[in-house]
Amino acid sequence: MATINKSLVKNEMPVQPADVRNRNFSEVALGYTKDQAIDEARRCLNCKHKPCIEGCPVNVNIPDFIAEVANGNFETAYQIINKTNSLPAICGRVCPQEKQCEAKCVRGIKGEPVGIGRLERFVADWHIANSTTEPEIPKSNGHKVAIVGSGPAGLTCAGDLAKLGYEVTIFEAFHLAGGVLVYGIPEFRLPKHIVQKEIDGLKKLNVKIETNMVIGKILSIDELFDEYEFKAVFIGSGAGLPMFMNIPGENFKGVYSANEFLTRINLMKAYKSDSDTPIHCGAKVAVVGGGNVAMDAARCAKRLGADVTIVYRRSEAELPARLEEIEHAKEEGINFNLLTNPIEIIGTEDGWVKELVCLKMKLSEPDASGRARPVPIEGSEHKLSVDCVIMSIGTTPNPLIKNTTEGLATEKWGGIITDEDGLTSRKGVYAGGDAVTGAATVILAMEAGKKAAKAIDDYIKSK
Ligand SMILES: Cc1cc2nc3c(=O)[nH]c(=O)nc-3n(C[C@H](O)[C@H](O)[C@H](O)COP(=O)(O)OP(=O)(O)OC[C@H]3O[C@@H](n4cnc5c(N)ncnc54)[C@H](O)[C@@H]3O)c2cc1C
Ligand code: SF4
Repeated sequence: MATINKSLVKNEMPVQPADVRNRNFSEVALGYTKDQAIDEARRCLNCKHKPCIEGCPVNVNIPDFIAEVANGNFETAYQIINKTNSLPAICGRVCPQEKQCEAKCVRGIKGEPVGIGRLERFVADWHIANSTTEPEIPKSNGHKVAIVGSGPAGLTCAGDLAKLGYEVTIFEAFHLAGGVLVYGIPEFRLPKHIVQKEIDGLKKLNVKIETNMVIGKILSIDELFDEYEFKAVFIGSGAGLPMFMNIPGENFKGVYSANEFLTRINLMKAYKSDSDTPIHCGAKVAVVGGGNVAMDAARCAKRLGADVTIVYRRSEAELPARLEEIEHAKEEGINFNLLTNPIEIIGTEDGWVKELVCLKMKLSEPDASGRARPVPIEGSEHKLSVDCVIMSIGTTPNPLIKNTTEGLATEKWGGIITDEDGLTSRKGVYAGGDAVTGAATVILAMEAGKKAAKAIDDYIKSK
């Protein structure tokens, strides 16, 4: 057994210098070298009670994979992770580890937890770069399953069912598969070739992907059953409908939803000088919100050359974004106007954004979400001079599928209602991910896709 590395801090992850990376879209974090990975893996105590595993929504066998890394057996480490996580290169980059596995790590009691996410990323990247093993192509069991949406929920459900021999077709509304992984999370955080690798892996398992297929418009859920003879349908259509604040001035030119802003930048490559769909964001940008989406929009705007300010109504402690993204955003020169809430957007005579009117806030007792409630401070009204406002205050599921599928029960806010296993109110129709929970995380969407795949298998076998 390798000797324990007693260091109280994690091995640093090499990154591009902040003043260089805030002008390019290449990946910020560069990943561990072999030596750094082995050194970090040696910090793991291989605890008997393995608390880190409980913190992982898909229960990756963390100590076992880390022990293989410590011994330099990177492919074996990959195979251990891959048993329960089909998208490790993605999770290693975007999971909020500090709230999950690393929050439970014993090494975190005195010092920093083991860099579990960084090790997962290292192992997955090593596999992508070095492995030559092709997946075994499963023998068809003759049953067809349709998946709506190609985000992490749909991809995971598709992968698990394909491995069981189902003939799986994913229907994706956009011209590219991947969901938020391609249209939301920017290249500098999640390179698109990594997502493509995972999608190629599914294609090798004979999963068909039909892009430009808006279910609820081109084909209905009922038609998938009646005309195309799918035995079950999984809806993983996400939560892509942006919310706005409903304050005066939101119709001025230069006000974007973060979704539109990021989709145009990521999917349409609007940041490239030869883009067919360039995007205007001006010299001064305010991003309203404090989640991962807000950080991504702010850091994209910075890379387009703007001076960027995050406007968030609570304090730093309540920022919902991943810690690493907040730190990276700060290093890159994003300003944070915390405890600040917009109440109006003022425009120029020709209809462009000119100013954001805000109130200062103070924190009061916790609200229903358990977080301190922000309350306006009287007389604190002030104006920020801006050319562009990006609203990043949340999203809800698009109502298209709900409106075109009879008998599909949904919550008032649009989320599809399911049981524990993902079964909806319609026989044979399962759902999971953001379409059910509202905007959440990649790993929770994957967990839902996994559970639904198992339930779909049980359902079809029992028929
Ligand atoms: C900018 C941004 C940054 C984020 N950062 C992080 C992060 O760092 N870490 C993290 O864990 N999570 C992050 N998230 C959240 C995470 O990406 C989502 O929770 C996750 O992608 C949800 O997966 P999903 O499969 O449910 O839906 P999605 O990824 O939204 O995929 C749904 C897919 O369904 C398609 N679709 C929708 N309607 C139809 C239809 N009618 N017919 C056919 N296809 C349809 C959509 O085009 C889309 O491709 C971020 C989200 C955003 C927007
Ligand atoms: S809790 Fe931390 S130290 Fe213990 S097994 Fe898990 S990763 Fe290793």
